[in-house]
Order: sequence, then structure tokens, then C-alpha cells
Amino acid sequence: MTPEEFRKAGHQLVDWIADYRARVEERGVMAPAKPGEIKAQLPPNPPIKGESFDVIYEDIDRVVMPGITNWQHPRFFGYFPSNALLASVLGDFLSTGLGIIGLAWQSSPALTELEEVATEWMRQMLGLSDSWSGVIQDTASTSTLVALLCAREKTTNYGVGRGGLQAETAPLIVYTTAHSHSSVEKAALLAGFGRDHIRVVPHDTAFAMRPYALDALIQADLAAGHRPCAVVATTGTTTSTALDPLAAIARITKPRGVWLHVDAAMAGSAMILPECRFMWDGVEDADSLIVNAHKWLGAAFDCSLYFVRDAEHLVRVMSTTPSYLQSAADGHVKNYRDWGLPLGRRFRALKLWFLIREQGVEGLQARLRRDLDNAAWLADEIPKSAGWKVLAPVPLQTVCARHEPAGLTDDDLDRHTQAWAAQLNQSGGAYVTPAILDGRWMVRISIGAELTERRHVEELWAMMQKTVVGAGLLDPPGERNE
Ligand SMILES: *Cc1c(COP(=O)(O)O)cnc(C)c1O
Repeated sequence: MTPEEFRKAGHQLVDWIADYRARVEERGVMAPAKPGEIKAQLPPNPPIKGESFDVIYEDIDRVVMPGITNWQHPRFFGYFPSNALLASVLGDFLSTGLGIIGLAWQSSPALTELEEVATEWMRQMLGLSDSWSGVIQDTASTSTLVALLCAREKTTNYGVGRGGLQAETAPLIVYTTAHSHSSVEKAALLAGFGRDHIRVVPHDTAFAMRPYALDALIQADLAAGHRPCAVVATTGTTTSTALDPLAAIARITKPRGVWLHVDAAMAGSAMILPECRFMWDGVEDADSLIVNAHKWLGAAFDCSLYFVRDAEHLVRVMSTTPSYLQSAADGHVKNYRDWGLPLGRRFRALKLWFLIREQGVEGLQARLRRDLDNAAWLADEIPKSAGWKVLAPVPLQTVCARHEPAGLTDDDLDRHTQAWAAQLNQSGGAYVTPAILDGRWMVRISIGAELTERRHVEELWAMMQKTVVGAGLLDPPGERNE
């Protein structure tokens, strides 16, 4: 493809994306595809001769789109908002178009220095003190793994330089709650702690960590000769946006030198609102924290911010510099390869920089405030309707709800919940995520897609009420033909 051919095909693609975004509301939300249906329409073998883009583009509408769940749809209430504002899409496009890789400062100085500026802007926007420094990673999962590796090396006083974990005599312990994200357990396992050394700290009725229970577990571990290493607390848990009490937790971790990692992957975006910052009160006493700019904030996936207080420690754990990557500038510049796992790094700062510049802090704040209002409205409406309940506090934009018709309990209630959620999702009208809270199925409504206005939340609520009537008739208690 020549640059002139690219110009033509590129304009076509930009037009396609603009049309898609402008008219996404006319589409169903959930992909209608059945398993294997997309694959079955694709040739099993690669083309021997090159094809023209006119032909390739035809397959977007014909083959690809039926397999797309439209996350940017205004009635997308699934998982979490993963906004890709168009300004950030352009940044991602430019990053790819430049075709560069960040290996070291010298391999493209702008890649590093723009990342320093964008993460510094984010630090200020989040209301964090200037003792934090940031880096952009791909995902929160990676950042949490990095955090636990750093915690491990702090507790062992850089045991990797000796026999590693295999030479440690007393086990290192990680503490978190049952409501932390699955990536926390995964990171703890991959960092070598072992399942026997992950403590699940009890939570309260709002699904937040109980600090006294944490303290008791740590004391029991110390008495047993174990070494408490890290606490992973969550600001905004995945299921219900519960808020672990960071200040109380830090009062336990800090005097004992236990690493405190704060997972604010989803809810961290809300910290650009001064009125929300009480939710992570105590964060200044943490050692590391993550905020996914690729969720509610609006940077196109992937763009996860990892902030640390002791950057020197991070670099000491992460750097292994071979001679061909050393340069004369090394003493004066940041080499972000030493701030995480991969050597080669994408120019992710561009999409964040474009986003913040085009929206302005006020623009981003206004949208998040709109979403908080919409969630508060829905949380207020739901219990007014007979049989409907909101099951968890709604500090942010996620509402956990259940329809509990009289006489339906236990497994029958679960079947009813799953039936109406599936029916709603399959209708294409809206998309919600069923999940388990306190051992029972319920439905999470995660509000915050860029295009979601009050009217869309009202439409969702009307659909929910209509759907449960249908689902109730389809699947009445005691009359299932299984
Ligand atoms: C989304 C989320 C994650 C995982 O994020 P990835 O970037 O996909 O790894 C982890 N923790 C919380 C609280 C989340 O909301």
C-alpha cells in the first residue's frame, strides 16, 4: 500500500468510524452472533494474492459487525464504561501511524517525555500529592503484578538478587477481600506467593474490607512466624464499587512496613472530582495505585496509569539493562522500560494527551458528574417499584439490582434473574451484566458510556420492568419443564 492508497483507504475508514459512532444507537447493543458463526464465514486459508481494500472493507459490515458488542452504545450498561472518546482514537491512530517503539528515551524522546507530562497532568487531576510518579501500562492486571513484585522485593530486601522466593525461609503473605478483582489473585499467584499465602479479609455489609479483621489476620501471621507483605485494597470494587477504608488500612500497614497497593482501576476516574476524593481518603499512605484511563475517563483501550511513591525502588526491581540499551543520556532521562514488564512500549501517552487537551478537565468532570446523577436517579427509582431492590450502596455509577417477585426464593430467584437478564441482553435493546453478590445472582447496571444520557437510563429501566413480566411468565416457579 502506497501512502496515496493509504490516504484514500484511510479516509474511507475514518468516515466509516464517524458514521458508526454517529448512528450506533440504531444498532442492537449485544452481538447477535452464535459461537463459531463469525469464524465460519472466513476462509480457513490465507489469500495467496493480495486483495483490494474495497473487498476487505465489505467484510467489516458483512462478517465483523454481527460479532461486535457495541460498548460505545448509549444503552451499554455492561461490565464497566470503557469509553474511547474520538479525540483519543486519533491519538491511538497517530501512535500506530508513526510506527515507533519506546525501548529507551533515545528510541523516541517524545514518547517518554509526553508520557511524563501526561502522567503528571493525571496526578494533578486526581488530586494526588507530588510525591507520586506515574507510568502508563497496558492494563491494571499488569500493574498489580508489578506492584506485588515490588512488594515482594521490599519484604525480602531484594531477594531476587540472591535465591529469590525459593530461598526464603518464612512465607510472605498477601491480604485482600473476596470482592477484589480476579487480577489480584492472579498477580499474587504469578508473583510466586502461592494460594496458601493469600488471605481473604472479611468484608462488611457494604462489601468493604474490615480493618479490624485485617489487623487480626496480620497479627496471627506474625505470631506464626509468617511475613505480612502486601495488602491490595480496592477503591470501587468490580461487582458493586465498594470502597475499602484506605485510611484505616494504612494505619495498619504503614507502621509494619507492609506494602499497600490501591486498585482504583474503575473508580479512580471519579477522583478528578474533588467531591469524590473522600472515597480514597488515606491514599497518600499507600505505596502504589492504579487508575485505568481506558475505562470511565475515556482514553481508548489500553491506557492504565500506575503511580508509585518510590520510583527508585520500582526501577531497581524492574531494570535489567543490557549494554545495547545503555546510552549516554541514561543518567538524565527516564527509561520507562525499567518501570514495568515489557521492553518495547507503545506511544500510549498520545491518546491520553489528546483526550485531556480536547476535553479539558472541566469537560471530563462534567461528563462524570452527569453519570453520577444518572446512577443516583436509577438507584432512587428502582425501590419505588414493587418487588425491586437495590442491593448495595451506590457511591458511584454502578447499581446492583434484583427483581424479587413474591414467593420466589433461592435457586428459583436465581433462574428468574438470569432469565430476564438474558432476555434483555438478547433483545439488543440494552446490555447489563448479571453477577453474584452475597451468593445470589443479581444484575449490575454500570452507567457511564459517553453517549448515555438520562433518557437512555429511563429507557433501560422501562425495559427492565417490561422484561421481568415476560421472564416471569416464561419461567414461573415450579412449572419449569426441565
Ligand atoms: C477493570 C478492573 C480491573 C482489570 O483491569 P484490566 O485493565 O482489564 O486488567 C482490575 N481491578 C478493577 C477494580 C477493575 O475495575
